[in-house]
Formats: sequence, C-alpha cells, structure tokens
Amino acid sequence: PVILGIESTCDETAAAVVRGKTLLSNVVASSMDEHARYGGVIPEIASRAHAESFVPVVSQALADAHMELSDVDAIAVSAGPGLAGCLAVGVSGAKSLAYAANKPIYGINHVIGHVAVTQLQFGQVPANTLALIVSGGHTSVLRVNNIATDVSVVGTTLDDAAGECFDKVARLLGFPYPGGPHIDRHARQGNPHALRVPQGLTQGKAAAEHPYDFSFSGVKTAVARWIESETAQGHAINVDDVCAALADSVATVLSKKTMAAAAHLDSQTVIVGGGFSANSQLRTALIKAGQEHGVEVRVPELRLCTDNGAMVAMLGSNLVEAGVKPSRPDFSIDSSMSLGRICMD
Ligand code: ATP
Ligand code: MG
Ligand code: FE
Repeated sequence: PVILGIESTCDETAAAVVRGKTLLSNVVASSMDEHARYGGVIPEIASRAHAESFVPVVSQALADAHMELSDVDAIAVSAGPGLAGCLAVGVSGAKSLAYAANKPIYGINHVIGHVAVTQLQFGQVPANTLALIVSGGHTSVLRVNNIATDVSVVGTTLDDAAGECFDKVARLLGFPYPGGPHIDRHARQGNPHALRVPQGLTQGKAAAEHPYDFSFSGVKTAVARWIESETAQGHAINVDDVCAALADSVATVLSKKTMAAAAHLDSQTVIVGGGFSANSQLRTALIKAGQEHGVEVRVPELRLCTDNGAMVAMLGSNLVEAGVKPSRPDFSIDSSMSLGRICMD
C-alpha cells in the first residue's frame, strides 16, 4: 500500500510517503531553533510552527514522491503520545485531507512508529523483538510480537527520560539546549571513573521490583552535589570527566536492563530508536552487549531515529497490510497514549 504519514507530536512537523517498506519521500521541518533560547520546547511556539508548516511539508512530501493525494491508499498520523496542542494541529490537518480525498485514516502511536521505521533499513520486525525507545521525552522497553497487532510494555522510566537527564546536566555545565550531543562529544575525552553517577533501580529491593524500569531523576542532583563539593575543596572541575561518567552510567544501565529483558523473554533481536539513540556511548554499549549475548542489535541511521514522517507512514503500511480497521473519522488525540496501544479505534 501507498501511505502518507504525518508527524506533529513535539517540535518536528514531518510528512513522508511509503510504498510497502520502501520510502518514497521524507520531509522534516523543525522548530527546534525557536526553542533553543528558552532551554526547552515551548508548546505554544511549537503548535504555531506546526500550523505554519503543515501544508508546505505535506505538499512537498507528495511532490517528492511524484504523487497527488488521490494516489495514496491511506493516511497515517501520530495521535499520541505528545503535546496536546501539537497533536491537535497534525491530526486536524490529516483528518481534513482524509475527508477531502475520501481516504481511510489511522491515528497511530508515535512511540511504536519509532520501532516500525527500522523496517525501511533492516526489513520486517521479527516476532518477539525487544525495542528500546529513548529520546528527550521517552525511555521505554517494549516487546513487539507483531508490529501491527501485538505490542506490550516491558519497562519504562519512572521519572525523567534519558535525553531529558542529559539536557538537565548539560544546562548545569553551561552547554546550550539541547545539550545531549555536547555531553556525547566531551565524554569521549573524559575518565568515566572520576566520579560516581548513580544508576537508578539497579540495587536491592528497587531492582527486584523494577528489573526493566529506569530512574534518572537522581542523576542531576548527584552531579550537582559532586560539583559543589569539588568546588568547595578548591578543585577545578574537569567537564570531560563529568560527561564521561554521566554517559557511561546512562549507557550502561540502558544496555544492561535491555539485554536482561531480552534474555528473560528469549528475544533474538533488539531494536533501538528515538533521538537519544544518536548517543555514541549507548550505541557502543548495546552493540558490545549484543555480541556478548548473541542478540542482533538494530540501530537505524540517525535521520530515521529522530522524529519524522517515515515512521508514521511505515506503521500505517503495516496496519493496512495486516488488515487492521482504520480509526473512526472522528477519533481523538491522546496526549498520554498508552504504549500498548498501536492505533486509535
Ligand atoms: P520525542 O520524545 O517526542 O521522541 P524529542 O524531541 O524529545 O522527541 P528527539 O528529537 O528524538 O526527542 O531527541 C532529542 C533528545 O536526544 C534530546 O534530549 C537530545 O539532547 C538527545 N540527544 C541527541 N543526540 C544525542 C547524543 N549524541 N547524545 C546524547 N543525547 C543526544
Ligand atoms: Mg524532537
Ligand atoms: Fe519521538
């Protein structure tokens, strides 16, 4: 099937056309630059940017695919989870197109789209795959038995997302937003053992109760305290070391828990997605752990990891191929859409 996918959960307005598992076009407009001076995404600014970019981005995606709206078999749009005002713009726009062109519409789960998009590079998602989705807003481990019909949550962060944790420490160190890439770069030159960064939910009762969950909210405080105490003792702060210790701790806990879940569920494949999968320490840790455990690790190229329309179109294609019923024409957005839910009724 030919699917037009539309994405507007956060700061990217994106559209793409997919035929089966082939990407025909992929257009992304980001309002990131407008948020940088505030140190985080401002929902009102992001919603306005979606309203401005929707028509040009969708038109470009169709033009790049050499298609008219009448040529597509269905429209897919992210219905959640995400910022309500942002979702509303993309979903209303997509519904208007579906109504005007008399096409079925699928309101899909953005996070599961991050898993689906890997098919463009690696082909079908095998049964019983484990997926680690990490970004500025998400840190979740999913069991994907069938991408169109059977996804369940294995673990999730109980507080901050991994990208959010990096961005908070980056702010403390004076890096501009988003700080994740700066930490990555500095970490490569530092000593990860210079300070101890706590790995949440890895010890005692908490570890037993939450074997595949994460907690990153203690990290920023621990780093802040260490900096304070070092400064009080008159020591100079080595920024590279702070970044190395942070990156090592986060990459280790993410890869350890993901591989433990894969072993527990007997999964042979681990898929990684979301903007934080750009992190080189995480990539290295997962690839190494995969080799040790005999598990295939699929980390897609960067442009497919960050938010885009191809992920939405690809999941739409899977739903159509599996014969899943489209969403009702009046389906609503769900800003806190459950990760076990693939598509709105
Ligand atoms: P969503 O959560 O809706 O998927 P988002 O905009 O929060 O979207 P992305 O754009 O997918 O997330 O990813 C951005 C996050 O990834 C930011 O927190 C950023 O700091 C982090 N990030 C990007 N590159 C790196 C890197 N090389 N190392 C560490 N963190 C990174
Ligand atoms: Mg983003
Ligand atoms: Fe995302």
